[in-house]
Amino acid sequence: MLIQESLSVQEKLEILSDAAKYDVACTSSGVDRKGKAGTIGNASKAGICHSFSADGRCISLLKILFTNQCIYDCKYCINRSSNDVVRTAFTPEEVCQLTIQFYRRNYIEGLF
Ligand code: SF4
Repeated sequence: MLIQESLSVQEKLEILSDAAKYDVACTSSGVDRKGKAGTIGNASKAGICHSFSADGRCISLLKILFTNQCIYDCKYCINRSSNDVVRTAFTPEEVCQLTIQFYRRNYIEGLF
């Protein structure tokens, strides 16, 4: 497993938001999709997805993995150890900075 230590935060964001898009809890992340008549919301490839709050509001969440480094090899999973993908991990500080920066720009209301 090749772990990239020297990636920028933007590069990590692209990798780890793409790796998170297969989680069925928020299937709108990881793809570019514009809102259109008859649908709700839009999606950005940078990992911002939509969900619904308990009171029914549609909210935007930054959806990322903390890391895609995994020692296991579940055949259905993009992060399985036998899959030839770039491996990386955020630091806790990077996740905090990304989240608060997106929040302050009114892109998200939470972190998934
Ligand atoms: S390979 Fe298996 S254990 Fe590892 S992240 Fe995927 S589902 Fe989880």
